[in-house]
Amino acid sequence: MDTKYSEVKNYIGGKFTKNGHKTLDVINPSDGKVISTVPLSGMKDLDAAVKSAAEAFPKWSSTPVKERVQVFYRYKTLLEKNLKELAELTQIENGKTYDESVAEVEKSIELTEFACSLPQLIGGEVLEVSSGVECRIEHKPLGVVASIAPFNFPHMVPHWTIPNAIALGNCMILKPSEHVPISSNRIAEMLKEAGLPDGVFNVVNGDKEIVEAICDHPGIAAVSFVGSTKVAKIVYKRATSNLKRCLALGGAKNHLIVLPDAHPDMTANNVAASMSGCAGQRCMAASAMVGVGEIDDIVKKICDEAKKIIAGKNLGSVISKEAKERIERYITEAEKLGAKVLVDGRNTVVTGKEGGFYVGPTVIDHVTPDMAIAKEEVFGPVLVIIRVKDLNEAVKLENDSEYGNAASVFTQSGSAARYVMDHASAGMIGVNIGVPVPREPFSFGGWNESKFGVCDITGKSSIEFWTLQKKTTTKWNPEAKKNWMS
Ligand code: NAD
Repeated sequence: MDTKYSEVKNYIGGKFTKNGHKTLDVINPSDGKVISTVPLSGMKDLDAAVKSAAEAFPKWSSTPVKERVQVFYRYKTLLEKNLKELAELTQIENGKTYDESVAEVEKSIELTEFACSLPQLIGGEVLEVSSGVECRIEHKPLGVVASIAPFNFPHMVPHWTIPNAIALGNCMILKPSEHVPISSNRIAEMLKEAGLPDGVFNVVNGDKEIVEAICDHPGIAAVSFVGSTKVAKIVYKRATSNLKRCLALGGAKNHLIVLPDAHPDMTANNVAASMSGCAGQRCMAASAMVGVGEIDDIVKKICDEAKKIIAGKNLGSVISKEAKERIERYITEAEKLGAKVLVDGRNTVVTGKEGGFYVGPTVIDHVTPDMAIAKEEVFGPVLVIIRVKDLNEAVKLENDSEYGNAASVFTQSGSAARYVMDHASAGMIGVNIGVPVPREPFSFGGWNESKFGVCDITGKSSIEFWTLQKKTTTKWNPEAKKNWMS
């Protein structure tokens, strides 16, 4: 498909603005062709976005929450109506498959649905705390907030923050990934069509420079970030040193512990899907399988499943030439150090898409914990298998990881599963599930170096991140019986 999109623009105060900046090419990673350009914005653009958001804030924040969510009821129907077009766009700018893109937009719909339930979740906290004295809690928005997104979910990750933050009364500036900025322009168009007042949602494009400016801008009260751990640390330190509230989600190295009693077919299927879905470019991907004891049969089945995953068909591309080279370097290094490549995805070329950045599914056995591929985030369709003798050793290996996004166990033993649930050092645990993403209303967030800051980014937990709690104590009847708290 030779698709081209018009240049990506910033969206400020309800208008797409003329750019006049330096630009970067936006590339379709599945064939390497340029599909658009994205502006590299500077401080002037951010100032304009903050000004428009700050101007919109008094009216938007004083609109009752039950009215604010009406925008998101309408927005949800627009997502449903445009699902096919939005999925195609996600597919083209990110390189994932069409089915994965549909699933991504469906998840955006679920996140929007959750925001529509916020009036039910934030209402009703009032109590007579003392004779004739009432205390109530209200959730007040923070003001102008920013959301910085990564490349791997151009549609879904912006929806982790947009519906909740805005429905709770904040005005937002979104900084999409410069690799996949087109979806965010469509999100802006649809929010306007759904009736969101101008200035409540703004998009400022760019790279490192604009992220740093967001962390420094005195008009921004809170910053949410999703991306690599290296950048999450930079953003968290910089935003909090400027006394902003910050929640920064980072990378991952998720461990999947497989016990010999695991159901062989279900396990093989799940492990292969978990490591290869979205070409392994998921912070929830299983990238390290810890095989406990005798699991050769399961490993063979995993390889059989992996061989059914075909680049260009049910496996998308990775994001860039650099990503492909990095992933292949990890595989080659591990092989040199003695690991055994059972399924090899290096040098994959898809006929008709020779310019695309593909890595085939890869399974590497007998990886040792000291190898870089065992410890670092590879972010490609690569499964490493580390063999251990017992469950204690498996859990210790998982615990030793710097990350802590997800961990799964495959077993038919309830007590083994319980042991992993209790002892794994990760925010999201799976039992016989390879990608344990908690669906709404449960919140999403890892531990350790996979997340910096308190609260999770979605679900009920995000209410606390996006709001301030105002506690008001009232007394209207002077004749009420007095005690020391009255
Ligand atoms: P990235 O960290 O390179 O980029 C994320 C954002 O930061 C982008 O908007 C980018 O423009 C900006 N950025 C890049 N370098 C910067 C710098 N030096 N200073 C300031 N800003 C900078 O991440 P990515 O490659 O876009 O995304 C992949 C990463 O995101 C993986 O590590 C993945 O695990 C992680 N991720 C984590 C989660 C999670 O929930 N924990 C979810 C999705 C992705």
